[in-house]
Amino acid sequence: MGNEIPSFSDLKRDVVEKDLCTLCGACTSFCRENKLHAIDMKSGVPDYVNEENCLKCGICYMICPVTKEMDEKLKEFYGEGIGKILDVYSARSTDKNVLSVCCDGGVATSLLNYLLDIHYVDGVISVKKMKGGRSMPILASSYHELLACAGSSLATVPNLNEMRHYSTYESILPEMRELVYGGVEKVAVTGTPCQIKAIRKMQIYNILPSGSIKFTVGLFCIENFSFNVITLSKFERIVGERIGDIEKVNIKENMMVKFKDGSKKEISLEKLEEVARKACIKCQIPFSNIYADISLGGLGSEDGYTTVIIRNEKSRELFEEAVEEGYIEIHPEWNNEKREKIVEKIKIWTEKKEKKS
Ligand SMILES: Cc1cc2nc3c(=O)[nH]c(=O)nc-3n(C[C@H](O)[C@H](O)[C@H](O)COP(=O)(O)OP(=O)(O)OC[C@H]3O[C@@H](n4cnc5c(N)ncnc54)[C@H](O)[C@@H]3O)c2cc1C
Repeated sequence: MGNEIPSFSDLKRDVVEKDLCTLCGACTSFCRENKLHAIDMKSGVPDYVNEENCLKCGICYMICPVTKEMDEKLKEFYGEGIGKILDVYSARSTDKNVLSVCCDGGVATSLLNYLLDIHYVDGVISVKKMKGGRSMPILASSYHELLACAGSSLATVPNLNEMRHYSTYESILPEMRELVYGGVEKVAVTGTPCQIKAIRKMQIYNILPSGSIKFTVGLFCIENFSFNVITLSKFERIVGERIGDIEKVNIKENMMVKFKDGSKKEISLEKLEEVARKACIKCQIPFSNIYADISLGGLGSEDGYTTVIIRNEKSRELFEEAVEEGYIEIHPEWNNEKREKIVEKIKIWTEKKEKKS
């Protein structure tokens, strides 16, 4: 590295050109937020558009979830491996509407709905599913908008600025920025581990609009898919049906696909690696979303329930309140033995993902 402070050229070499970019957009959002606009994602990945504007301040390199910068600091707050676990539950929503559309037990939707109801947040940046396996980020500020987001969007999300790019996260920050300037001060965000890690790095530097994020719901994530015509047809070949015939997918030990005609299929995640994003295959960010306030997944819970990892006192309090207020119910046969089994599974999958990368 020629410069002591790494600049975007270093980020390009170390992350983008090695196919490691998660397309989260933290780097471009920061640059744009500070009116520098030296880099953009117009070509599909972050790149220089006005190199002469680059201050070589190194912030883009620091906040990228893939670089190791600040990993030691993050480790102090959030631990590593399976992260800080205050408690684990298997739980589900009590709301029939949520249960009929959610991915696992609907804990994410009902907890977020609780946060809206008590005005802990004014909105939730989340992902709405669209036709063709695509998704888009929205700010949900009502129960009905949250319901429209329930379920897992395994395809990366179209960038609102450039519809031909696909990203889970890039679009979330611009979406937020508009809202922050529009007066929404407190938001919750749902996200995969790379997204939440980028948010935490941005919060350390107090980079707009990360200060408005009051609660993070982290989803476990083994891999993500970026559908274009080719990968979509490969995915359909592996699944054996058109994506439009799929009613629901869950990832636990395998991908469980439920079709609209009621039939079900289980597909090994190894088979799906062919269509997973390269950056996801090489991703070294812990599987169970250790940087989130609360982490949710299907792994270890029986069908219809969400595995819940409480990461800090704030999430413990809010989760317990949501249970007391009747938004969420804990599995009736929940006990320590089950809790330990789930933690064991999370350890195994964390190690599997580490080895894969
Ligand atoms: C890409 C991806 C990979 C996953 N991999 C695993 C895995 O390997 N193992 C495992 O156990 N669980 C995995 N999960 C988590 C699991 O699929 C469920 O999201 C989780 O159990 C919560 O279920 P729920 O019924 O409580 O959530 P719901 O009540 O259905 O709500 C889910 C919330 O998450 C939001 N959301 C969905 N997709 C995205 C996205 N791509 N980016 C940001 N927000 C999103 C929705 O908009 C909604 O608000 C993955 C999820 C995703 C999105």
